[in-house]
Amino acid sequence: MKDFRFLADEFYEPFLSNVIRDNELYAPVAQKNKFSYEKITDVSKVRLDFDVTTLPPKKFIFPPRQTLMTFKDGGKEYAPVLTAEPKIIFGIHFYDLKAIDMIDKLLNEPLADEHYLAQRHAVTLIGSNIQTINHRAFYSSVSKHLDPEGHDGFMTKIKGGYLYEVNSLKGLDLIRYGNFVVASQDQVDEAQRINREALLNCRRKLKYNEEEIARRMRQSFKMDALWERLTTGCFSCGACNLVCPTCYCFDVADEWSADQTSGIRYRRWDGCMLREFAVVSLSGGRLENFREKPGSRNKHRMMRKTCYLNEKLGGAACVGCGRCSLACVPDIADPVEIIHTVMEAVYEA
Ligand code: SF4
Ligand code: SF4
Repeated sequence: MKDFRFLADEFYEPFLSNVIRDNELYAPVAQKNKFSYEKITDVSKVRLDFDVTTLPPKKFIFPPRQTLMTFKDGGKEYAPVLTAEPKIIFGIHFYDLKAIDMIDKLLNEPLADEHYLAQRHAVTLIGSNIQTINHRAFYSSVSKHLDPEGHDGFMTKIKGGYLYEVNSLKGLDLIRYGNFVVASQDQVDEAQRINREALLNCRRKLKYNEEEIARRMRQSFKMDALWERLTTGCFSCGACNLVCPTCYCFDVADEWSADQTSGIRYRRWDGCMLREFAVVSLSGGRLENFREKPGSRNKHRMMRKTCYLNEKLGGAACVGCGRCSLACVPDIADPVEIIHTVMEAVYEA
């Protein structure tokens, strides 16, 4: 479904005010010099000129903590919990839309994650063009094979207003809240040019193509000293995982009530850079950490982003948002730096 509408500047805030009258709307707002998606009660706070949000919009579909089921009678009786809270997420950059498309695929195959899908179907995703480029982003040189497709609409700021591209019936439904008119071909062309320029103007780039990177990264698998050197100073805080829009690892735990017979089972985000991520139980109550060293954890993180999932996704599992670089206090998580160093080391070996 391709349908292009135009919303003049003077109708933009009234449109959002009408939307929040009937719906829960989440959009980027400023938090000092950073941005985060928040529930909107005052539409003047919405900032479509944000560079990047601290956490990706993934959090509304795949929340940091989610109840999976309730149980009683010591687990003899149980019931799944499927949460489907309607929410409109407004102002999503195209790299985050790509990341949601990836997670849609990963949590649908080979087994459908019903908990994810219930909430996924309940949200409406509205993209917006990049007006400010985050200085650590490199989105123009990764996941080039993907055009975002799972969203419901996309707003591009053009002269005098916004070009709204309708992508689904849910996206079409939103136009009843605003004074939209059918867009002209010139307005459609202008929006396309602006979105092309957002790619061209993102100057940080990987020097190699994705196939080459995937192949060479695998060749670094046994270069343990290199990976330890690349991970010097790591706190194992897991921030690089937790801010990543394409990470989807989770841990499952039970929480028992005071009666000791009933409770809930929930999942919470996990991260492969955390020290205990790869700890497994052995016989006799012993534990083993099969990725004990920070370098082996970092290698795993980067292999997941550059090669392990490529067959399933058609390319790298990284969208180049730059959040991991921004979140890392010792500044060692930047995929561009890591990939370039590994590629050069493999070529020299
Ligand atoms: S690895 Fe880093 S740059 Fe790539 S998608 Fe994750 S947070 Fe963004
Ligand atoms: S690479 Fe940086 S963000 Fe990631 S776990 Fe280590 S210190 Fe934390």
